[in-house]
Amino acid sequence: MAQIPLIPNQDFKSSIPVPLHQHITEERLFAAFSRDSVPLPYPNPTKAFWTHGEPDANPLGKVGSVGNLTANADVVIIGSGITGVGAAYHLAKLAQQAGLKLDVVVLEARDFCNPPQGRNGGHLTPVLSQGFRANSQRYGVVEAIKSVALENHTVSSLLHIIRSNNKEEDVDLVSGHRFDLFFSKEEENDFLLDYDAAKMSGVNLSDIRFLSQDETRNKYGPQFPSVSYFGNNLWPLKLVTQLFNLAKERFSLTSGSHLSLHTQTPVTKVSLLSESDRGEQDDNRYPRRWLIETPRGLIRSHIVIHATNAYAAHLLPFLIPSPGKDSIVPVRGQVIATRAAISSQEIINTSSSANDGFEYWFSRPIKNVDEDKPLIILGGAREATAPGFELGVADDTTLNENASKTLRDFLPAVYPEGWFSKDQQPEMEWTGVMGFTESRNPFVGPVIDPSTKTTIEGQYIAAGYSGHGMPRTFGCAEALAQIIIADLTNKTWTSPKWFPQHFLTTSR
Ligand SMILES: Cc1cc2nc3c(=O)[nH]c(=O)nc-3n(C[C@H](O)[C@H](O)[C@H](O)COP(=O)(O)OP(=O)(O)OC[C@H]3O[C@@H](n4cnc5c(N)ncnc54)[C@H](O)[C@@H]3O)c2cc1C
Repeated sequence: MAQIPLIPNQDFKSSIPVPLHQHITEERLFAAFSRDSVPLPYPNPTKAFWTHGEPDANPLGKVGSVGNLTANADVVIIGSGITGVGAAYHLAKLAQQAGLKLDVVVLEARDFCNPPQGRNGGHLTPVLSQGFRANSQRYGVVEAIKSVALENHTVSSLLHIIRSNNKEEDVDLVSGHRFDLFFSKEEENDFLLDYDAAKMSGVNLSDIRFLSQDETRNKYGPQFPSVSYFGNNLWPLKLVTQLFNLAKERFSLTSGSHLSLHTQTPVTKVSLLSESDRGEQDDNRYPRRWLIETPRGLIRSHIVIHATNAYAAHLLPFLIPSPGKDSIVPVRGQVIATRAAISSQEIINTSSSANDGFEYWFSRPIKNVDEDKPLIILGGAREATAPGFELGVADDTTLNENASKTLRDFLPAVYPEGWFSKDQQPEMEWTGVMGFTESRNPFVGPVIDPSTKTTIEGQYIAAGYSGHGMPRTFGCAEALAQIIIADLTNKTWTSPKWFPQHFLTTSR
């Protein structure tokens, strides 16, 4: 087994304000969890740093929210998070390559990208070995390797798009080494066992470095053993805005193709159109199949993509959480933006996490000369909201008081004295809702009704990322777009080597 030097054989600090080893408890709760229904996104969520931390942070915020609603589309994408916009981005590229004309409409219940993607922690880091043993046992080693491959593919694709379009500054991209702290021997052993299993299976882990308590203290501040590897952080809403603009630009290159957006347009129902309701068919367009209902009017479309993550079960009730069922459970997360007490020269600008990933934070790049002390974006503390862990909470208009207290106590307890003030109040604090599945893996592919095991022709889904979205969503959206283009051109989809087959709705 790999060794971390100089670690005492005990929990490393007793004063950390979060309970340790909570995954098993959470899993037990999850397995017994049920709900009667899942709501639509709530209007007026708490204000997130990414949506309100800067004037004009969300230039697409209200686009298409007033005036006429588009009446017809080839593809309607429900949800303007990174999955929905990622699907539009990939469809634009693949349709152009296949010579297809596509009219694509994105419908968003709230402002553009305001729900989770615009409310998350901002980390864009592939998981290289964590969970490798569990994935191998459940799906086999080849699939465990593909889970890592998907994350590497997603992150490198996004970095390539950002860099090749010179958008690093626009999305506040910070790339470099990150560190994950171990608060206990058990957590460290768990990491090492996954690390060894992944390494033995040929996963490239050459980037991973183990640091002792003293090495971590000297390099980053906190006095805990840690593991360090390559990671990125950015302004998630700005990334999705750039992706939308690039997709729109590409659609506009093909005559007859178009991408439009309607925000403040919740979809309340999707139903099959009767033959007589399908209307006049334009020779160049795909036949309309689905009627999409919104409070602002109706849209007819050939294809519907559910990019609705936590809220997927509202339109697809067979995904409503119930014990023993493969479902999507809304889970609320909380984040603060808080100022360090020391200057940006003293605190390294890097991403970090701890306690099996329950807490995650990074220091924002300094953008303003007057800003001496960096702003830290810290999320987590769900394990401090026991007994519920925020399972089933879809209300992001309020905060959880226990999570608020724990987040305020966390950094002063983990960093050396004086780095963070115990009395410092966060500059912003918000919640967001994630979509969790029992396996923590998303559903990707055609929508399949499990009660009849029938594929619902023309409806597709990519949802259920279980809080680990940024390194997976865009890749899943790419696979989904490939499946759709293959269906539209009557071809058989060949899965890319990097895509895990156990994510597919057809293999669940
Ligand atoms: C607090 C928090 C912190 C997180 N931190 C990180 C992190 O640091 N790194 C990371 O990788 N991941 C993180 N995540 C997870 C990540 O944000 C999600 O996995 C990611 O946003 C999923 O993207 P998505 O596009 O699939 O879904 P979402 O971003 O949830 O987007 C779904 C969209 O669908 C819309 N919608 C839903 N139903 C309807 C409907 N019926 N009609 C119209 N629109 C609808 C919603 O309004 C929403 O805009 C975090 C999540 C939260 C909540």
